[in-house]
Amino acid sequence: MSHSKADLGLYIHIPFCRRRCHFCAFYLEIARSDRMALFRSALAQEIALYRRQESLGGQALQSIYFGGGTPTSLPADQLVALLTLIRATWPTAGAAEITVEAHPSSITFEDLAILADAGFNRISFGAESMADKDFASIGRFGQVEDTAAAVQVARRAGFKNINLDLMYGLPGQFLPDWIHTLESLMTLAPSHISCYALTIEEGTRLAQDIARNLVPPPDEILQIDMESAAERFLAEEGFSRYEISNYAKPDHACRHNLLYWTGGEYLGLGPSAQSYFHGVRFGNIADLEAYAACLHDNRLPVTDRTILSASERQRDALVFGLRLLHGVPRSVVTAAERDRQIDELVSKGLLDADHDRVRLTSLGRRYADTVAEQLF
Ligand code: SF4
Repeated sequence: MSHSKADLGLYIHIPFCRRRCHFCAFYLEIARSDRMALFRSALAQEIALYRRQESLGGQALQSIYFGGGTPTSLPADQLVALLTLIRATWPTAGAAEITVEAHPSSITFEDLAILADAGFNRISFGAESMADKDFASIGRFGQVEDTAAAVQVARRAGFKNINLDLMYGLPGQFLPDWIHTLESLMTLAPSHISCYALTIEEGTRLAQDIARNLVPPPDEILQIDMESAAERFLAEEGFSRYEISNYAKPDHACRHNLLYWTGGEYLGLGPSAQSYFHGVRFGNIADLEAYAACLHDNRLPVTDRTILSASERQRDALVFGLRLLHGVPRSVVTAAERDRQIDELVSKGLLDADHDRVRLTSLGRRYADTVAEQLF
């Protein structure tokens, strides 16, 4: 998918959760009011510094994404104050997608009504599973009933665009359990579903439990079966798999995430947030204390900055573009002997190709990175 020059998104990383799930390696802290106050004042300073530098050059934001962590760890009025500050700082497109991630077990109707009234128009719940036993195995607090209640509350509060994040291949989860989760969620009529295979991140509690043989490692074959089952099931329910892990009802693909996969630009605020702007990738320091200290000294908390060469940009266009259902134009494939490479991958059943575009097959999606390497 091509994107116009105007595609620009803003990501805000809110690094707080009530408890850390056993698989989670995101940068976050356990929510505490003094730490959240430190974060809010540092974030306001980060916004002020970017405003002073006029970094975004007057371009309108097409999407604003509050992620984390659990953004709803902050009270709703504070999230609204933050959104108000952002809109007062940068022009925001009238039809901008404004997403907030939320934990199903920590929201109220009143909070969500405040957020919807303020202009948040998309909500993403970390549902993970619809089996309580899975929650225990991944250390996620709450109960599955909370997800159903949260979706109903969100809808009543005015959210029409509702995403549910799911994980599959959890310890002790089998194919019928996964199908049960998918079936249960259909009764909630979400507009978007993200399905992620459980991966084991270094340093997590789950990685330690596996190393000590307390928990079995994910079964890759089973995960592939679960992925195929989700693809079939969700297609029958009217969802289009527009990206490897993402399924949407018509017109509900996540515009913010599409920026990442189509070479769009985004500015990330908050500790550990990543940015891509004017051909430069940069990331904020993943430490609230150091992040706040930099901003206190009027310095942006950026730790790494990479200017992408033309070849690196082309490689990204290929790697990220191939994640999308409709693939990439043939012209993006840079491999020597392009046609022969494409034909070879087509004959192995990994790629579909026509005169204009190449796209991964279902099989190819499992080996997306390897295929991309061969095409570069
Ligand atoms: S709720 Fe989400 S961000 Fe928070 S610890 Fe669990 S997986 Fe990580």
